[in-house]
Amino acid sequence: MATLSYRPTPVHEIRDPLLATAGVQLFVKREDLNHPLVSGNKWWKLKYNLENVSQHLSRTVLTFGGAYSNHIFAVAAAARELGFTSIGVIRGEETLPLNTTLQFAREQGMHLHYVSRDDYRKKEDYGFLEALAKQFGSFVAVPEGGTNIEAVRGVTEFAETLDQSFNYYCCPVGTGGTLAGIIRGVPDTKKVIGFSVLKGEGSLQHDISQWNLHRQNWQLLTDYHFGGYAKSTPALLQFIEAFKTQHGVPLEFVYTGKMMAGIFDLVKKGFFERGSTLLALHTGGLQGKY
Ligand SMILES: *Cc1c(COP(=O)(O)O)cnc(C)c1O
Repeated sequence: MATLSYRPTPVHEIRDPLLATAGVQLFVKREDLNHPLVSGNKWWKLKYNLENVSQHLSRTVLTFGGAYSNHIFAVAAAARELGFTSIGVIRGEETLPLNTTLQFAREQGMHLHYVSRDDYRKKEDYGFLEALAKQFGSFVAVPEGGTNIEAVRGVTEFAETLDQSFNYYCCPVGTGGTLAGIIRGVPDTKKVIGFSVLKGEGSLQHDISQWNLHRQNWQLLTDYHFGGYAKSTPALLQFIEAFKTQHGVPLEFVYTGKMMAGIFDLVKKGFFERGSTLLALHTGGLQGKY
């Protein structure tokens, strides 16, 4: 059976006067270091999806994303490592030169198939998938952002391997698949906090609940999007820069920077009781950004 290579990752304590004053201990699980290309949560979200591809006669994976998608990047690299054929259905028209994400995906052998924004909206429709199968032959489809039951299963497995002695577990949230897996994988006496990187909640709260119907020990915070998906502010960029300098941990502004800035803001506001221990999950996203 095909499995991606995996490197065990460290937990690193963040020592900061702000944390000391608040009586809070913060640790970072450096899951961004688990694989050079398929890093962080993407490794775990893909694990069982890739297993399905390896058992499928076509050994072909087809997935969807925007031009800057970390998910597209990860699927392309994973397929390359495992010898699968990969097809990326990309929203919008091709713009040349390709950006680094799409350039990389193509170098990994991914076939890039562009569809208009209107067609892209129909990507869940049976007819749309059938037309793709006519064109490309059969494949295993993985949804945009990679969140499905296999992804939640993989992240749950990851969460079960974590030290279970922290009071709080924190992660950034895009589609919510990662947060759902964390909630399932840690004991329900723990608190799990997700930091949404999207402006406007949409259906996130509902999407996450559907994976964790019986759990109440989690919260989705929606005040730390810094303008919306892939948007940033000078203050956020400064925070990321300072964090790298002071703590040696690189963050990026789409996901992990927003989570960490959110955690620091909550500490400042006294959100966490004195004596609390927090584990923040570094979900990766640093490909080409070091
Ligand atoms: C994709 C991604 C996320 C979001 O994960 P979801 O399961 O979609 O919520 C978080 N962090 C990084 C670095 C990512 O690449």
